[in-house]
Amino acid sequence: MDAAEFRKRGKEMVDYVADYLEKIDKRQVFPDVEPGYLRPLIPDCAPQDPESFEDVFKDIEKIIMPGVTHWHSPYFFAYFPAASSFPALLADMLCGGIGCVGFSWAASPACTELETVMLDWLGKMINLPEEFLAGKHSQGGGVIQGSASEATLISLLAARTKTIRRVQSEKPELTEADIMGRLVAYASDQFCATLGTTPCCSFDKLLELGPICNKENIWMHIDAAYAGSAFICPEFRHLLNGVEFADSFNFNPHKWLLVNFDCSAMWVKKRSDLTGAFKLEPLYLQHHHQESGLVTDYRHWQIPLGRRFRSLKLWFVLRMYGVTGLQEHIRKHVRLSHQFEHLVLQDERFETCAEVVLGLVCFRLKGSNELNKALLKSITEAKKIHLVPCHLREKFVLRFAICSRTVESTHIKFAWQHISQLATDLLKTWEQKHHQQ
Ligand SMILES: *Cc1c(COP(=O)(O)O)cnc(C)c1O
Repeated sequence: MDAAEFRKRGKEMVDYVADYLEKIDKRQVFPDVEPGYLRPLIPDCAPQDPESFEDVFKDIEKIIMPGVTHWHSPYFFAYFPAASSFPALLADMLCGGIGCVGFSWAASPACTELETVMLDWLGKMINLPEEFLAGKHSQGGGVIQGSASEATLISLLAARTKTIRRVQSEKPELTEADIMGRLVAYASDQFCATLGTTPCCSFDKLLELGPICNKENIWMHIDAAYAGSAFICPEFRHLLNGVEFADSFNFNPHKWLLVNFDCSAMWVKKRSDLTGAFKLEPLYLQHHHQESGLVTDYRHWQIPLGRRFRSLKLWFVLRMYGVTGLQEHIRKHVRLSHQFEHLVLQDERFETCAEVVLGLVCFRLKGSNELNKALLKSITEAKKIHLVPCHLREKFVLRFAICSRTVESTHIKFAWQHISQLATDLLKTWEQKHHQQ
């Protein structure tokens, strides 16, 4: 493919994606395929000779789409939102076009510098304490990781290195191995301090945990993967109170801030804690600017060496939505989750199972776990909407997560009517079955 053909095909692809997203509500949200469906549809080996773009293109609808779960369908209420927006899609295209690998400042200065500034913008949007921002000369700063899981692992590794060095300075007779064997990590069954747990969006009490961590010299990492985006709204910012006690903090714009995967924003109060843990400096990666101290080399802030120009999509989205546009998006989702909550509460057969704070409603039929599993099974098999369950304590619970950028009140009403009808059908057969027994 040369540049001339790329121009033509690029426009076709943009049209295809725009059509796909514009009419996504017409597609069945969850596919009909069985495991292993794809292999028989494509050749065993890569083609020896080149194929045309048309050949590849027509296989999208034939081979790929039949096996796609449509995360951006307004009938998708499973897991958690996956962010997507047109500005982010365009920025990702540019990212691919530039195609740099920004592991150090010199490897592509704009890639590093835009990321540092975007993480400051984002930090200011959620009113993160000044210490976490890079500013012009601060010790803190932000970085884009691929996922919240990576951010947590990096915090853990940095905490380990920091603690080993502290203990070694107090007790030089101990080896690294001696210390390593005695380190303790404190966690709940959700792992670290969490704002917005995945099953039911509950919030740890940072104002209780934080001072203990600080007093005992324990690194505190806060994971706000989903909920963090909501803190751009002043009415939800109080949920972040206590972040001032943390050493590191993370949330995922790729969940709820309209920036396509992957974009997990992570901040630390002391960048030297990260660079101290991960720094490797072979000669081919050294650069004369390093002496100035002004240079950020993001390879020391992460596990991989390579990294994409991900801050572009943050830049496009923050500029083209503005803070108010993004606040509207969050508020709409929260409004819709309360709408669903009210519908559930009006039906005596149902109960909610956790406080609805943001965009997630946990609910169930009053009755056994078996009954609720049967309800979920009928929802899953009907494939009109898609949702997934969780366990809260011993209870089997259905999670209704507001996900799509384009979901509206009518979709919520439809989803509820559908669930309620399936429940009516189920309860009829369920009671008959239990009478016979
Ligand atoms: C979604 C979620 C994660 C996982 O996020 P990744 O970026 O996919 O690793 C971690 N923690 C919480 C609280 C989440 O909601």
